[in-house]
Amino acid sequence: MSAARPRIAVVGASAAGLAAAEGLRRLGWDGAITLVGDEPHLPYDRPPLSKQVLSGAWAPERTALRDAGQLEGLGLDLRLGTRAAACDPARREVTLDDAERTVLTCAGVVVATGVRARTLPGTEGVEGVHVLRTLEDALALRRRLAEPGRRLAVVGSGVLGAEAAAVARGLGHHVTLVGSRDTPMERVLGREVGELLAEVHRDHGVTLHQGATVTAIATAGGRASGVELADGTTVEADDVLLAIGSEPAVDWLRGPAAEAAGLDLSDGLGCDQYCAAAPGLYGAGDVARWYHPGLERHIRVEHRMNAGEQGLAAARNLLAELDGERFGVRRPFEPVPYFWSDQYDLKLHAYGVLAGARRVQVLRLGKDPLRLAALYGGEDRVTGVLGIGLTPRQARGLRPLAAAPGPWEEATARLTETVAA
Ligand SMILES: Cc1cc2nc3c(=O)[nH]c(=O)nc-3n(C[C@H](O)[C@H](O)[C@H](O)COP(=O)(O)OP(=O)(O)OC[C@H]3O[C@@H](n4cnc5c(N)ncnc54)[C@H](O)[C@@H]3O)c2cc1C
Repeated sequence: MSAARPRIAVVGASAAGLAAAEGLRRLGWDGAITLVGDEPHLPYDRPPLSKQVLSGAWAPERTALRDAGQLEGLGLDLRLGTRAAACDPARREVTLDDAERTVLTCAGVVVATGVRARTLPGTEGVEGVHVLRTLEDALALRRRLAEPGRRLAVVGSGVLGAEAAAVARGLGHHVTLVGSRDTPMERVLGREVGELLAEVHRDHGVTLHQGATVTAIATAGGRASGVELADGTTVEADDVLLAIGSEPAVDWLRGPAAEAAGLDLSDGLGCDQYCAAAPGLYGAGDVARWYHPGLERHIRVEHRMNAGEQGLAAARNLLAELDGERFGVRRPFEPVPYFWSDQYDLKLHAYGVLAGARRVQVLRLGKDPLRLAALYGGEDRVTGVLGIGLTPRQARGLRPLAAAPGPWEEATARLTETVAA
């Protein structure tokens, strides 16, 4: 590459990496962009993996975020199936794990390497034990669920586990959901809404073991045969899905160069309010833990909308750092966090910060127990809002409540007005 054409490397070719690469071009970067991804696929979307792909409603190709022609239009130096092995922030170099150990010398780097599924020690490679992060993971579990009458044990009743359990039940399988909290999704949604979700899963025929501790994955003849719980119960199963959270993919960043640059890799890549981890090095998406000025603390958000928004924000701020005259000033990244979840025919929408709320106020909407809105927050202030079973218009109306959260009384009045509309 000629010295006249500087390069930006984007590491991680998924939602956040793609948004960064597209953002760089849209904002006018005419240098090279090298997009490095260790998966062999063109960038694809993960939310359908636990929904339409797992159910078989979508062929895997439908998850593609862009087709080859659209990517070609971006003029990328695309390195798929290639892992970034190291990064030297001070020298702005990224080393690839290819045969030549290629070293990319860069003007800037965007880190968008996401997270990896957490597993239980000793279960790697055990037949019948699944995780659900990649397309291959989804297709492997799908193949098993394509056969009738399976017994599936899902360990972890967070959003991923609850969604997978719903899909497997929808396909008619025997499903057991095992969770460490007393109710599904309790860490994020609290006990009251968790109880409601527990009822929904039970009504659909899922067996729940909540408040449970898994002691081992049972095997027979080298394949998973169930899940052993601390209370002595064995949940018999043909397949076990581990949906027990994730680990930020920062292993490749670790080393003396990262230490010298002062990178904070304690929970993802620590970044400032501009998504910068070091000069010329920016983080985006699930891997980035950045300072959110509105919330006055660092957060890391593992949701789809954030990946796209932060990819673009990181691209914009990197360009502003490289050439302020041309690209303007850096702007703090302070989005309203958002996620959705689909379980059976229920749609959940959540804006703002719900996890860790000390106070939750649920507003039931009429007689149907599966239509509600809820406010989450501390003693004085609301920080997040949830809607279940709302119309699209009502759901969209929740966002302003989390964007400008206020005291409880005011937020309750605004919520009542929103859902009445
Ligand atoms: C099954 C499933 C369902 C989901 N459903 C929802 C939902 O309903 N709603 C919602 O809001 N969010 C959902 N999410 C979360 C959402 O998909 C993520 O927030 C989003 O994918 C994050 O994008 P990302 O680009 O930051 O990271 P990722 O999508 O994890 O992409 C990171 C990429 O970097 C690659 N990589 C890692 N290390 C390296 C390396 N050293 N070199 C090169 N490449 C590397 C990875 O292989 C991966 O391809 C779901 C996630 C999953 C897994």
